[in-house]
Amino acid sequence: MTKGILAVYPGSFDPPTNGHLDIVSRASCLFPKVIVAITKNASKKHIFPLDKRIDLFQKITKNLKNVEVACFSGLLVNYLEKINSFILIRGLRAISDFEYEFQMSLMNRKLNKKIETIFLMTDQAYTFISSSMVREIAMLGGNVADFVPDCVEKELKKYVIDLSRKSYTKQ
Ligand code: ADP
Repeated sequence: MTKGILAVYPGSFDPPTNGHLDIVSRASCLFPKVIVAITKNASKKHIFPLDKRIDLFQKITKNLKNVEVACFSGLLVNYLEKINSFILIRGLRAISDFEYEFQMSLMNRKLNKKIETIFLMTDQAYTFISSSMVREIAMLGGNVADFVPDCVEKELKKYVIDLSRKSYTKQ
């Protein structure tokens, strides 16, 4: 284990999936402390508000004692400087993730040369899971039980029911 190093796993996690949980579990075995840093990006349209995403991530990581869930807005490099952490964790699913992640890690390092990005590969059972696909399937009434933890599945169901009620009352 790398002593005294705080690692940060950033993302929008809208919603958190089994793939995200797999990555944070792996990171928690490698670093003494891992912060899941959820983006508070007002310009991006999320289905779950920030407090819900924080709550869900806290629930799914409650057994990982060295994992903390936080949020940040603005530039990630500024947040890392503020909390004095220079290790970024990112998950890789397939080659298709690599180009974007590679570019971002080089950009982050250009912005702050102390930053190292560590890529962790997900279990192959989760390689095809993405938050956007889970959202789409859930919105169309599909079953997402194999892709997300139970508490996330419940919240997605609630979200879809609320949404259909709202559109029904609008008509
Ligand atoms: P973003 O940071 O683009 O908003 P996400 O919140 O979806 O993306 O994901 C955060 C991180 O988790 C990224 O590094 C992404 O590659 C990784 N990730 C997303 N889905 C999976 C998965 N199924 N398995 C492993 N890593 C994943």
